[in-house]
Amino acid sequence: MSHIQIDSRPSPQTEQILQFDIVIVGSGAGGGTVAKELSDLCKRGVKIALLELGPHHVAAENNREELAMAQRYYFSGGGFQTTTQDMTLAFAKGVGGSTNVYTGVTFKLPETAVKKWNVPGISLDDLDPRMEKYLQENGAHFEDEANINQNNQRFKAGCEKLGWHVDQFAINTRNCAGLGTCNLGCPRSAKQGTAVVQIPKAEQNGVQVIPNCRVERIDGNDILATITPQENISAISTDQTHHSYRIKAKKIILCAGAVNTPAILMRSFGKTFNPVIGRYLTCHPALIMAAEHPDKVDGTQGPPKNYYSEQFVKSDRFLLESCMYFPFSFSRNLVGFGTQVDEFISRYPYLQMTIALVLDDAHHENRISINKQGEAQVHYKLDKKIQSSFVKAIRASAKLMFTAGANRLHAPGSKQFFIHQHEADQLEQLITEKYFKLGQASIASAHLMGGCKMGESPKHSVTNSWGKVHGQANLYVADGSLFPSCSEVNPYLTIMALADRVAEGVRNDFLSKFTDQRTGTLL
Ligand SMILES: Cc1cc2nc3c(=O)[nH]c(=O)nc-3n(C[C@H](O)[C@H](O)[C@H](O)COP(=O)(O)OP(=O)(O)OC[C@H]3O[C@@H](n4cnc5c(N)ncnc54)[C@H](O)[C@@H]3O)c2cc1C
Repeated sequence: MSHIQIDSRPSPQTEQILQFDIVIVGSGAGGGTVAKELSDLCKRGVKIALLELGPHHVAAENNREELAMAQRYYFSGGGFQTTTQDMTLAFAKGVGGSTNVYTGVTFKLPETAVKKWNVPGISLDDLDPRMEKYLQENGAHFEDEANINQNNQRFKAGCEKLGWHVDQFAINTRNCAGLGTCNLGCPRSAKQGTAVVQIPKAEQNGVQVIPNCRVERIDGNDILATITPQENISAISTDQTHHSYRIKAKKIILCAGAVNTPAILMRSFGKTFNPVIGRYLTCHPALIMAAEHPDKVDGTQGPPKNYYSEQFVKSDRFLLESCMYFPFSFSRNLVGFGTQVDEFISRYPYLQMTIALVLDDAHHENRISINKQGEAQVHYKLDKKIQSSFVKAIRASAKLMFTAGANRLHAPGSKQFFIHQHEADQLEQLITEKYFKLGQASIASAHLMGGCKMGESPKHSVTNSWGKVHGQANLYVADGSLFPSCSEVNPYLTIMALADRVAEGVRNDFLSKFTDQRTGTLL
């Protein structure tokens, strides 16, 4: 493993200089993939750095305690709110980014989504072999039925009894012990994310990973960043822990995620640099539902998620998946206070859970902006169409769970706290738009997409179909922000495929510009 020597003496005023050929900002699904893909260039003498805002996480320190791990991994401890405070966004920091906490659900981008994107050059013919590559590399597989827990089995059984579509999705674990805490960081590194698969390969090939490095902005071909020397954090006072760096690069690839890549571009070039920056954010707004069974469900045992139903995708624009959430996150999903809440939570081992993801449209007004301090803010309107999808999704989840054997359930958007089995034929009357109130229903999103959409012209997009920022010779984007609209399925595999494509473009650009055409040697 190669490390740069960071000067840890207190000198906050002095700007220090580092020099690389290629610098990648952010190390999640996009950044980790680009780092690995370009890393063979290191053998030819190309200097590559991977800058990451968060630390190197140590798997053995993942103690599975919900609140402590949420603080460790997530931006705002997992409580990042949109400006209207009716939706919570989950995205993570640290080497590996959000892939440290994802569930590993692995879906290929469907044809319908690519068609809707309508970006010349982006087709399934191009993306499919790339998705196939990461599917293999990350060990995506269908879990053996013997390891599938009751929570998932009941999702499948409910769909089958109702005659609904149901299918198993692949998950990307290796040697999974079924601890169930994927979203809090796996203590065994069983879940395959970039910190486990791609970044170690990149480091082996010579990419320098620089954790605790916050990129403030881009200044010409330089990156202005603050690095916090890890070993000194507690030893010296706060104002002396930050060191300003000017990091010189021939090529810069932004992979800071759908919230932070647009924010870096806005801090660097101003809000008017391109009319589309930060715009067209989509996020699959999601709601969790829970139902109590007379016998134990024990959803925390085994891989958390295995099945999905696309029964309502065409008609009502939502996807249903089996899921399991931890007590605190789950309790936030209950609408109300007091004894009923306590009572329901005390039945945790008996609860079946489902999640509904709404396939949202890309709107100009759903966007990232920056505040006076340059920090990202997310503006997102949960419009009537989304609310209507949610109401239908809540009814469908309720129907599914009653059919699977639940005796009562709690539904946001319902007239009453509990709906009982004997009321299962009244779901249309009990769950309605009248009772569904934004700010009360706990809507969350972990699939952040858009903000630097790909396209042909700077009037309608931020990058071309190779992730190259319009009007910039050496600046690229390779993360979830590239999506022109939502992926309609869990997005990580698509992000890796796009990052793979961006890496190919960067490699070609770099080699054509910095190779002596006569001798073939790098300049
Ligand atoms: C709880 C959870 C469960 C999920 N489950 C699934 C799943 O099962 N299947 C699926 O397909 N998807 C899942 N996802 C979504 C998936 O993880 C993300 O879509 C994907 O990781 C996004 O990739 P990215 O590269 O765009 O951003 P990220 O992976 O979020 O990486 C961005 C990185 O940039 C860094 N960064 C940000 N700002 C700066 C800065 N200024 N300077 C330096 N570095 C910076 C961040 O710290 C972060 O490490 C899940 C997400 C979450 C949160």
